[in-house]
Amino acid sequence: MADCENLATCAFFKEYETDEAKKQALQGFVDMYCKGDKQNECVRKKVSKALGGPQNVPVNMKPDGKPILGTSDSNWPAEVKAIANS
Ligand code: SF4
Repeated sequence: MADCENLATCAFFKEYETDEAKKQALQGFVDMYCKGDKQNECVRKKVSKALGGPQNVPVNMKPDGKPILGTSDSNWPAEVKAIANS
C-alpha cells in the first residue's frame, strides 16, 4: 500500500520524525496508519476533512484519535473531541 498522501506535511509524522524520545512509541502508529493499511481509518484525516483542513487538527493527536502519551486533550475544541470519540 502506498504511504498516506499527507505524510510529507502531517504534524503527527513530523513530530515522530524529529523527536527521538517519541520515535519508538510512535513507530507502530506510523507503520499501521501512515505507511500501512489503516491509513483510511486515521482520525487525524477525519478531523481534517470535517473541520476544513489539517490546521484544525491538534498536533498531539495520534492517528487513533488519542493524545500522544504524556500530553493531554484538554485544549482540544469540543468539535474535535466529538469526531475523535465518534
Ligand atoms: S497521521 Fe494520519 S493523516 Fe497523518 S500521515 Fe499518518 S495516516 Fe496520514
